[in-house]
Amino acid sequence: MSQTTLSSQQHPLLVALTGGIGCGKTTVLQEFSSLGIPCFVADEVAGAYYADPSFLHQVQSLLGPSVIRPDGSADKQAIAAIVFHDAGALKQLNAIVHPRVWADFKHFVDANSQAPYVIFESAITYEYGFDHLVDKVICVYLEQEERLRRLELRDHATRQQLLARMQNQLPAEEKMMRADYVILNYEGNPRTRQVLYIHRRLLR
Ligand code: ADP
Repeated sequence: MSQTTLSSQQHPLLVALTGGIGCGKTTVLQEFSSLGIPCFVADEVAGAYYADPSFLHQVQSLLGPSVIRPDGSADKQAIAAIVFHDAGALKQLNAIVHPRVWADFKHFVDANSQAPYVIFESAITYEYGFDHLVDKVICVYLEQEERLRRLELRDHATRQQLLARMQNQLPAEEKMMRADYVILNYEGNPRTRQVLYIHRRLLR
């Protein structure tokens, strides 16, 4: 499907990078980026949509008036509070966000058509079927306890808040089992060597 939905005849291999929150996706992505590989961060791109008033009005018509602050900006906390407690609302929100993310990714691929491969980074690659749209999936893996420890430091969030976020994602072990390539991101593990190994395989 990835081959047919892209406009250019020849395009780079499409590679998704996934893994549970806090496993080290951003850290690993920086390594691929420093090898010259174009990297698309789905969350960042989707986050920017909320600055677009027409998008925000679409969200408002789905989730209600509380999602827009009096100054016209998005109230992301209100949005999160609604969708974390209402699976139907989350599904509806995703139905407007995900096709747009994928369309933007296709533009990104076209703009980087000379690259050997491009990376689509998303924690929810499997949860929302993006794995069917790419050629290969890389999963960064780290067990939950260590992810919690790192996230407590990174986000200054409580264990309970972090566990609630994790509950919306597939178990990290399942992602690891389904992926084409796995990067084990334990402290002291040679992460760069794992990245280089996968990079060379993808260049073949
Ligand atoms: P994700 O993008 O998957 O949520 P991050 O790349 O932000 O995860 O990593 C989570 C935290 O763990 C960050 O603070 C990062 O600096 C740290 N981290 C990443 N890899 C390692 C590692 N191998 N050893 C120790 N800390 C790490």
